[in-house]
Amino acid sequence: MAKITLSNLRHSYLPNPKADEDYALKEIDLDWEDGGAYALLGPSGCGKSTLLNIISGLLTPSDGKVLFNGTDVTGLPPDQRNIAQVFQFPVIYDTMTVRENLAFPLRNRGVAETRIAERVAEIAAMLEVVDMLDIRAAHLSPDNKQKISMGRGLVRDDVNVVMFDEPLTVIDPHLKWKLRSKLKELHQRVKATMIYVTHDQTEALTFADQVVVMQEGEIVQIGTPVELFERPQHTFVGHFIGSPGMNILAAEAQGNTATFEGQSVALEGNVTGDGGSTEIGIRPEFVTIADTGVAARVRKVSDVGRHAVVEAMVGDTAVKAIVEGEVPGQGEAIHLAFRPDQTRLYRDGWISTEAQP
Ligand code: ADP
Ligand code: MG
Repeated sequence: MAKITLSNLRHSYLPNPKADEDYALKEIDLDWEDGGAYALLGPSGCGKSTLLNIISGLLTPSDGKVLFNGTDVTGLPPDQRNIAQVFQFPVIYDTMTVRENLAFPLRNRGVAETRIAERVAEIAAMLEVVDMLDIRAAHLSPDNKQKISMGRGLVRDDVNVVMFDEPLTVIDPHLKWKLRSKLKELHQRVKATMIYVTHDQTEALTFADQVVVMQEGEIVQIGTPVELFERPQHTFVGHFIGSPGMNILAAEAQGNTATFEGQSVALEGNVTGDGGSTEIGIRPEFVTIADTGVAARVRKVSDVGRHAVVEAMVGDTAVKAIVEGEVPGQGEAIHLAFRPDQTRLYRDGWISTEAQP
């Protein structure tokens, strides 16, 4: 196991990159602590696989360094980095049995046969594939092939890091949640550093202790699932995480008050900085229907199981509220109360209110 440091990392797929937009990764400085369960979360094309392939050595970065426990490995090929990587699509040998596939990474490194048998049995039990061990991999369903691929990534216990690049893409939805919680359990058992790449917030938030959120080749926030939910550092995080995401409302602000569609809203604290375009950020969970507050008119009510999402218009702006119990009817005039300690101000996307202790 190792601590992995990315220092001043940049990467462009172009031969002569110049402008910022020529870079798939813009400026990455990041430490992955030994034994951590990390998720790398962001929309398709934001640079997740690029980052992972730089850590594994499949790609050499245009600039910057990769360090394992302080040692520069930027120039080392993948097989000398002692890592395991699981890809989006299964990488297994069709002509081998499941057992041989799982044993392969160990056999390849000259591990003793008794130890191999032990590890294969352990991993097969965890992944619930014991009954398939003697089947040729070619005969497996895509789901099971991917399970075996994940097993191959987990079978060695001496790797610096295990990396998963959207491993559940090909997995059936009902099996997805099962494997997701299994991976979490596995991390707690093996304590290896794991980096789990996904564009799916649910996968990231269930698996990881720390989530690294990326957008357009940059890291916008690193935090626990709770931190990302409670105090997004950027409107992108507010919007990307949560369902529905944070309300982002164009507003003017001064002191600890914002003016939104001509109505006053109390902020969590005083605004910081100046200039730029300013927006209120408040999650639908913290907007309630009250006797006083921001005047609004109900546009739509959707029932999403345990609660309803009420979408109301304040002037020309839609605001969403998560409501438990009784809901207003469409077209009804209501008031919305924004919980002040959860009402943030963002300036050019970045948080700009003083946090309250
Ligand atoms: P993600 O894994 O988050 O979907 P990628 O790291 O695959 O994102 O891609 C980041 C950016 O780099 C995208 O704009 C993508 O088109 C580009 N890119 C990825 N791989 C290559 C490649 N081999 N050659 C050129 N551009 C690439
Ligand atoms: Mg990718």
